Amino acid sequence: MKAIGILTSGGDAPGMNAAIRAVVRTAIYYGYKVYGIEKGYKGLLDEEFVEMDLSSVGDIIQRGGTVLKSSRCDEFKTPEGREKAVEILENYGIGSLIVIGGDGSFTGAKMLSNLGVATIGIPGTIDNDLAYTDYTIGFDTAMNTVIDAISKIRDTSSSHDRVNIVEVMGRNCGDLALYSGLAGGAETIIVPEMEIRTDEIVNKLKTTQKRGKKHSIIVLAEGADIDGGALALKKILTEEDHADVRVTVLGHVQRGGSPSSFDRILASRLGNKAVELLIAGKSARVVGMKDNKIIDMDIEEALSMEKEFDVDIYEMAKVLSI
Ligand code: ATP
Repeated sequence: MKAIGILTSGGDAPGMNAAIRAVVRTAIYYGYKVYGIEKGYKGLLDEEFVEMDLSSVGDIIQRGGTVLKSSRCDEFKTPEGREKAVEILENYGIGSLIVIGGDGSFTGAKMLSNLGVATIGIPGTIDNDLAYTDYTIGFDTAMNTVIDAISKIRDTSSSHDRVNIVEVMGRNCGDLALYSGLAGGAETIIVPEMEIRTDEIVNKLKTTQKRGKKHSIIVLAEGADIDGGALALKKILTEEDHADVRVTVLGHVQRGGSPSSFDRILASRLGNKAVELLIAGKSARVVGMKDNKIIDMDIEEALSMEKEFDVDIYEMAKVLSI
């Protein structure tokens, strides 16, 4: 029987460990051998393989990060790199590979499947930027981390009548800013998908200040179209509104932490499904969740889908923060 390989690739996300655990345990349950490949595609090319057993994934379901480590690898983007990868996998008797990562990692998996390696992708990224699935592993935990930070910032903002700009991750996708802003009661949410003029932000501040609310939280996605980012916005608000403005860039704190129960359950279901697909002889598929059901889809089709931003929720958040 051929062995299954598993790797994590791209940015890490809380819940990746729960997915690794589910893959390893399901594969062993069905009698497969599993190799953990460290540091993503780079570790594949460097032959950083470890055979996994039931206990190698013990005590990790609650841990953030990825025990397999992650990286980005340019060599794998070349045809020679991928051919070398196939040769190495063959040498280890690995006929199929499960890749936990984002769209870049899925593209790599698709290319490997073209070379005869059966591949399945599991969505692991805090950005929630994959259109085919309602949720990616890590998004819920990251959102809770941001909400926790906003709540703390809100306490001190309120004590000092300050405006606080909280910059969150999200280069192309505003989901993290939108949902954490909504749940954190932010006055303004700024995302890459929706245009917002700085005078609108200033006017909003002035309106809320007029009704006696002196503190304000602005959640800004890092990829939002604000020239100069959070610091430039701070300057504008200070000049135009005379507000006492502080900037908090949450940064990598959003990528860490123990995964939420939602992410652990999602990761467990997706990991289990990925192995079942391989056993059923499927390849070049991704697993995900739609309307609380686990689904699978062709990788290429999934990658070609455009992520839809939930404008209704965005507009509702505006109504709730008047
Ligand atoms: P994140 O959402 O965290 O950015 P990602 O999976 O999209 O995750 P990338 O850096 O885009 O992260 O991709 C991870 C790795 O996948 C790359 O370093 C590379 O090894 C591989 N990869 C990405 N794009 C391609 C491609 N076009 N062809 C082959 N391999 C690719």
